[in-house]
Amino acid sequence: MPQNPAGALNPILKNGLQIEEVFEERGVDKKQGMKKSLGLMKKLLLRDPKKLCDLYPHQLSGGMRQRLIACMSLSFEPKLLIADEPTKGLDPEAKTGAVELFTKIKKDYGKTMLLITHDLDLALEVCDRIAVMYAGEIVELDEASKVLSTPMHPYTKGLIRAQPRNGLVPLIGQSPSRIRLPDGCLFHQRCRYSGIECSRKHPEMKNHKGGWIRCHFQSLQ
Ligand code: SF4
Repeated sequence: MPQNPAGALNPILKNGLQIEEVFEERGVDKKQGMKKSLGLMKKLLLRDPKKLCDLYPHQLSGGMRQRLIACMSLSFEPKLLIADEPTKGLDPEAKTGAVELFTKIKKDYGKTMLLITHDLDLALEVCDRIAVMYAGEIVELDEASKVLSTPMHPYTKGLIRAQPRNGLVPLIGQSPSRIRLPDGCLFHQRCRYSGIECSRKHPEMKNHKGGWIRCHFQSLQ
């Protein structure tokens, strides 16, 4: 599922046709495809799907467009559903709707899902596990509730402190350039716990308290 549902949909095709096309691509005949599309739309909490099919993407709200994209993605019956920043640019109401949508997909379809997101609330509500990434590598991996309630890695701690409800404390510095990555720990220039070893040796992922962390000082609390 691409981010920015508005840009991902074809603005000159009616909504119904966009889902139907997926079934057509999979060799399902038009009539059957339309029936399946309507069924999927209903399941994904889109009210009055027949009327919706007759509209164009710009006539839908952000949340509805996202559900339409979800219908298209699920029409392929994927084994793995990857959603890229699914709540980016959505208003608070549509964000709540997105949590409901992904919870439903998880519960009703039993799909393996990979959500790429900065939305920690969405991650907590929907995901079983969270892998926190910094400069292209995983720095912490554990059950979602553990990562968010008792973060271990300094970057994860910084992310949580930067949440508005936690005082909006920004992390110092900026992410390193991908073409000039620093030696040692990729986070050492911004880490308040950094020691000499950190700028020399790149830390490996290590098991700690049942989760995984990439830090020389796993016992940081
Ligand atoms: S290895 Fe060092 S710099 Fe990197 S996160 Fe751990 S303490 Fe901070």
